[in-house]
Amino acid sequence: MSFQNPVFIPGPTNMPEAIRKACDMPTIDHRSPLFGQILHPARAGVQEILKSETAEIFIFPSTGTGGWETALTNTLSAGDTVLAARNGMFSHRWIDMCLRHELNVKIVETPWGQGLPAGQYAEILMADTEHKIKVVLATHNETATGVKSDIAAVRKALDAANHPAMLFVDGVSSIGSMDFRFDEWGVDIAVTGSQKGFMLPAGLAIVGFSQKALDASKTAQLPRTFFDIADMTKGYAANAYPYTPAVGLMNGLLLATETLLKEGLDNVFARHARIAGGVRAAVDAWGLELCAASPDVYSDTVSAIKTPEGFNATDIVTHAAEKYGVAFGVGLGEVAGKVFRIGHLGSMTDVMALSGIATAEMCMVDLGLDIKLGSGVAAAQEYYRSTTGVALKDAA
Ligand SMILES: *Cc1c(COP(=O)(O)O)cnc(C)c1O
Repeated sequence: MSFQNPVFIPGPTNMPEAIRKACDMPTIDHRSPLFGQILHPARAGVQEILKSETAEIFIFPSTGTGGWETALTNTLSAGDTVLAARNGMFSHRWIDMCLRHELNVKIVETPWGQGLPAGQYAEILMADTEHKIKVVLATHNETATGVKSDIAAVRKALDAANHPAMLFVDGVSSIGSMDFRFDEWGVDIAVTGSQKGFMLPAGLAIVGFSQKALDASKTAQLPRTFFDIADMTKGYAANAYPYTPAVGLMNGLLLATETLLKEGLDNVFARHARIAGGVRAAVDAWGLELCAASPDVYSDTVSAIKTPEGFNATDIVTHAAEKYGVAFGVGLGEVAGKVFRIGHLGSMTDVMALSGIATAEMCMVDLGLDIKLGSGVAAAQEYYRSTTGVALKDAA
């Protein structure tokens, strides 16, 4: 077994050495001004990455799933109505969480591979003249299908209907890798985690609240203890948590935010877009198709690649792990066995991506797919040669 190869799963992502080391620190008093020097700048860094001037940032020892629960339990009461589209495994899981919290979910079934149906959202919101819908859920980047959605269009749907519902966005696999605009899109809660764009180990739920969401938390009735933002707010005022924070991860998060902001968000997004472009060029050269239905929804952080009928796509993932010691993502839920996924987010370069493309190619040839060895690599090489990357001195 070797730890030398990069992973190509869409989270947890590869960790830059400096960020990994920042998580490894001596014990400090987690209720002290010293902890405050980690906590407050890390929160400010997250706020800047969300492109918000005012969002209140909460960071829990948890994962993205805990961020979903933070959003729901702090703002809603049992029986409240939520509007959500199901277009992949992650939107499905957030809906499932709503149901377990006895929320009434108006589900818009959407083919896996398509983006959120802003047009249908608009019609439903328009028809909801009594304003029963309290929250619209939106998965910005559906990690199961490699599909990004247009959050600005969802905001437009709300505005066109003059509807007061809040907009909660799952940005777990987009924030810190793809453009995200909390203020401009009128997002009320953004959810992410530490182990994707932030290039850290799993272990933090990272959540931003608008003033409207903070106000809703004052009357919301769903039970909450661990994820109570009121308790957390009191803790933050004293450089502390209501319980014991994951201090090392917080220190890593501080460096991760500094690293992303130093590279420059536009450069970070351009790097992801370019790496993804090379992966897509390879997929095209293989004669395969993405699960994502059209270019406007192609994700820059993960590509879900359909394999031919009768072939089990999961075999590629198993074989890559066993023969080459490389990790790809399996298909989830409805697309299990039909797609495999190449994660290309976080600490990733074009050269790293080429090794992943080469490995996927070897696996497919090993397993008898009609693919020419080198074809995808060559297509990606041409793509990377013909586009401009970030100079090494500027990169993380
Ligand atoms: C990874 C992911 C999650 C779940 O996060 P965990 O950290 O595994 O709890 C939620 N939504 C999306 C879009 C994801 O990619």
